[in-house]
Amino acid sequence: MNEKLIKYFGVPKEAYSYMDVMLSKEEINLIEKIQDKKYTYEELINLIEKNFNLSSEEFLKSCYKRGVINKEKSNEQIVYKSSNIYTRLAYFAQYEVDLWKSIPEEDRIKLDKWYVEKYAQGAIPRLEEIKKKTRKLIENAYFYTIHETLELIDTVNHELYIVPCNCKSISLRCDKPKNVCILFEKSINSEWDRGWGKPITKAEAKEIIIMANKNGLMHTSEAEQAICNCDGCCCYPIRASQIIGAKGIWPQRRYDIVWDKKKCINCGICSKICNFNAFNKVNKTVSFDENKCWGCTICNDHCPVNAITLKKIKDNHE
Ligand code: SF4
Ligand code: SF4
Ligand code: SF4
Repeated sequence: MNEKLIKYFGVPKEAYSYMDVMLSKEEINLIEKIQDKKYTYEELINLIEKNFNLSSEEFLKSCYKRGVINKEKSNEQIVYKSSNIYTRLAYFAQYEVDLWKSIPEEDRIKLDKWYVEKYAQGAIPRLEEIKKKTRKLIENAYFYTIHETLELIDTVNHELYIVPCNCKSISLRCDKPKNVCILFEKSINSEWDRGWGKPITKAEAKEIIIMANKNGLMHTSEAEQAICNCDGCCCYPIRASQIIGAKGIWPQRRYDIVWDKKKCINCGICSKICNFNAFNKVNKTVSFDENKCWGCTICNDHCPVNAITLKKIKDNHE
């Protein structure tokens, strides 16, 4: 395996065999040349022109779009540096679906496990900062009800765009809708700045949220970058939260579920919609295990007889 690539692109052993699938020869050469240095746009164009028989501007644009290089703000100017496999893997799985699926499932599972563990470890300091109040928010900070999510769309003062969900694209653990990640973040290294995403209207965003809810996806947001529609099996924030024991804190639970057993007609809809098996149907009888509930609220939207209601608890998100 290419030692420089491992070092400068942060490649874990789980990905060694697939670097030539995820990166072109020229991209690998560029990472070897950039190493840990930073370049202005002009410097990087010069480097590409000297070393590659390629249209330098197009190549640079493509490397940035594919998550091979990143931008960084330095002394009020933008500089370029190598990205890493962690970033590249998400774009690869999101936008080169067939190639990602061509990797044997057992190796994809290993990469998914590596990814979620890395994500979980990276989240620990961010959560600590929130506890110390030196940081305001973490991504996917809160669970929102569908009504709150639709209201949130009305209050967003940015243009919205839609991208495929990177968690579901990498994990491929379910067949729930993937085109449900509503973003408004457009700064450097965002999907938008790299050249991805389709602009959507607020009405279209609301349709996506309603469709996601019908399909059992939970609404999470920190109200500043994205509105996510997540599942329990693929979603990295939720899986990372499980790994680091942050259930209830991240995404923050804001409602308790009150189940009126007498009203319940044992239809089992809630047991199908719940991502955590908190509602369970066995032998035609439904039961509710409060300990498994994350307070996502979506079961409340689906009960046909209003046997599930919401009780607001601690809410420090306003
Ligand atoms: S946080 Fe949720 S919607 Fe966003 S990418 Fe992950 S699963 Fe998809
Ligand atoms: S039981 Fe809890 S986790 Fe399951 S859908 Fe209802 S609120 Fe969400
Ligand atoms: S959806 Fe409502 S009525 Fe149906 S099983 Fe669940 S709680 Fe009971």
